[in-house]
Amino acid sequence: MKITKIDAFQVAWAPGDKPSQRSAFVRVHTDDGLIGNGEASPMQGGLASLSMIKHDIAPLLIGQDPLDHAVLLDQAIHTLVKLGPEGALTGALAALDIALWDLKGKYTKLPIYKLFGGAWKTAMPFYASIGGNGDRGVDEVLRVVEQRLKDQPAAIKIRFDNNRTTLDTDIPHDIAKARAVRNLVGNSFPLAFDANNCYTTGGAIRVGRALEDLGFWWFEEPVQHYHVKAMGEVARALDITVSAGEQTYTLPALNDLISAGVRMVQPDIVKMGGITGLLRCAALAYAHGVELVPHQTQPMIGHTANLHILAAQLHGTKPAEWNDPSTRTHAIFENPPKPIAGLFHLSEEPGLGLTINEAELTKRRVDI
Ligand code: CA
Repeated sequence: MKITKIDAFQVAWAPGDKPSQRSAFVRVHTDDGLIGNGEASPMQGGLASLSMIKHDIAPLLIGQDPLDHAVLLDQAIHTLVKLGPEGALTGALAALDIALWDLKGKYTKLPIYKLFGGAWKTAMPFYASIGGNGDRGVDEVLRVVEQRLKDQPAAIKIRFDNNRTTLDTDIPHDIAKARAVRNLVGNSFPLAFDANNCYTTGGAIRVGRALEDLGFWWFEEPVQHYHVKAMGEVARALDITVSAGEQTYTLPALNDLISAGVRMVQPDIVKMGGITGLLRCAALAYAHGVELVPHQTQPMIGHTANLHILAAQLHGTKPAEWNDPSTRTHAIFENPPKPIAGLFHLSEEPGLGLTINEAELTKRRVDI
């Protein structure tokens, strides 16, 4: 089998949307007619990653055997390392890796999790990841949480999404929101708090102590992601589990986070390494006795690829992330992932198990 064409493009979900609101998809075609589908991180519409795929990486892959994906993509990152390597380049390679695993599954007629060695489970609970709570008042936060409880999540995470150029802006109000949500859902419902990097080390420890009293399950990204030692200091100072890693793009960088003291890591399949990369992260986390709970906010290809990893994970300790209702809708998929009674079910179809409606995709694709 040989790669004959690599197609990188945006998908528009609504008429008149901005380029930054679109998804970034890649399709890898082969000489036996199979097509693998992948997705890159859609920051700014994924345009930087799509451009690298089109101009820099596709020429390295055309004519190659897609089953050599790990060698090919390691060659690509080392050839193009000065383009990044973090962010746009790792997002580009992640999209291609997911597409090549989808192809491998279609070629072998097996779901991807079978190729890992099997699934511990194919029905998976999720947590509702609720963004934008920094700008909301306490009552508004409660209304949004009530709305998301209708989806039957196994847990809820409140994200603050504050401006990262200011720190510790209103700690008492942040704690008041956490307390109000705790009162709303009752003492036994699992909750998480995502600071989105907006505290100082001291501020984070103060908030973390309050979250411990409120019985929160984990405290995410308390300080700036690039302050790896400070992230570790907060993690070591607190009893609550501190998590980080969604802005970590390489395996050595993830190792640095673990060495600093972080005991729950959250790399993202569409930002770094794709399926191959996340499997390596899982091995690293397992070797250190650290929890791997991937970050994932794309509702279709990224989410499904992530579920394959979670299905095959030995110690899956937390539910899968499921983001706010997305403008990146289900429109181009015949069998989009949707939770049923609080669970996502993986299909037994080959590859990712997603079927694309080609006519709908043609209507919505935007060439770069
Ligand atoms: Ca987060």
